[in-house]
Order: sequence, then C-alpha cells, then structure tokens
Amino acid sequence: MSSPTPKKILIIEDEPEIAQLVKLYLEKDGFRTTIAKTGPEGLKMVKADRPDMVILDLMLPEMDGLEICKKIRIAPDTALLPVLMLTAKAEESDTIIGLELGADDYVSKPFSPKVLVTRVKALFRRLQRSDEPKHSSYAYGSLLLDLSRHEALIDGEEILLTAKEFGLLEQLLHHTGRVLTRDVLLNAVWGYDYYGTTRTVDVHIRRLKLKIPLLDDAIISVKSLGYKLKDRNASD
Ligand code: CA
Repeated sequence: MSSPTPKKILIIEDEPEIAQLVKLYLEKDGFRTTIAKTGPEGLKMVKADRPDMVILDLMLPEMDGLEICKKIRIAPDTALLPVLMLTAKAEESDTIIGLELGADDYVSKPFSPKVLVTRVKALFRRLQRSDEPKHSSYAYGSLLLDLSRHEALIDGEEILLTAKEFGLLEQLLHHTGRVLTRDVLLNAVWGYDYYGTTRTVDVHIRRLKLKIPLLDDAIISVKSLGYKLKDRNASD
C-alpha cells in the first residue's frame, strides 16, 4: 500500500514452518516473497529474481548465512542488497560477526512475525537514502561536507582533503550505516579503469581518519570486506 510496486523479499530459511510464517506476515503487509531452503539455492535466486531484500537465516545446511552474506556483498551487482539476518539468541557472537560481514540488521529467534515485519519496513526506510540522488551537502556531527563548494568543514573550519579523500568521504556519507566493499569504493572514487589495488582504499581511509579525528571511531573496518560509516542514530 505504501509503494506502487510491491517490494520483493527473498527468504532463505531451511525450517519450513518459519519460512511460511515469515512469508505469510510479509505478504499480509503487501510484500511479495520467495523462499529458498539452502544457501546455494538462495544465491541462485538472488541472481535470478533480483529481490529488494534478503531475509537470511544464519544456520543453514550446505552453506551458512555468513558465507552467503559475504558472497552477496562481494558481487558488485548485489553489493548493496539489503540483508536482514535471522539468528538464534545463543549465537550472540555470530550475530556480531553477521553485522561485521555486512548484514544490515538482524532479528534473534524466536521472534514475533509482527516485529520482523516492522524491522523489515524500518530497514527499507533507513536504506532508502542510498537510492536517493546525491545531496548537495552532508552533515555528520560537527562535520559538514559541502559538495557544491567542494569543502569539508569541522565546526566551520575547513579541512584540506585531496580529491580522492573527498570522494571517499562522500561515498561513506551517502551510504551511512552500510558496508561498502573496497571494490565498490574503488569503482566509485577511482573509476572502473583504475589499475591500482584495493589497498589504495585502506591508505586513503587511514589518511581521512588522521585528518578528521571523529571519523576514527565512526568508520568501522568490516573484516575482509570493506568499510562502514556508523549510523549516528543507531544505538550500537
Ligand atoms: Ca536454520
């Protein structure tokens, strides 16, 4: 009802009762859904069906949720696909790893289907920003990035950035709260024909953190994938 084209959600879950319950509640709310029972099947459907979001169970046969999430993030065409992970309470450490590996949010089992639907909607709202056209400026705490004047300001004081540092910061600010792989950043800032390595990204992130100390805590390194600028409204 909220959008003209219903969003398509792929549920990757091996327990049929849970998959059906999630499907039922999502469809009651106007979403379209498909179900995959295993990781490999899920990955195939990600490519073939182009879902708008994946609800991904952590514990799956053949290939677990972490591995699937990583594969989704590494492939350039699905690098920004929203992933909500389903975890069990006892797997708290895995939950953290799930977020480190690029899940956008998680819900612990057992969960109320209504709560899950609420979280799905919240995630769509939060990630909508990434689809919006580029802004003319971005504010992040005391940091202001003014694209029209090509200036980075901290409390009104200009910080001198190189063009690449500026471009990196712009990407991170535009996708706040999302994991961006080194390849995504490299392509966005340096371009597809750039011959350098993904290490270049690390070097420039380090320089950004030195020049703008508030970014030192705010830019999180996501194990073996890339970087994420913390959402300022998030509790974590
Ligand atoms: Ca399972």
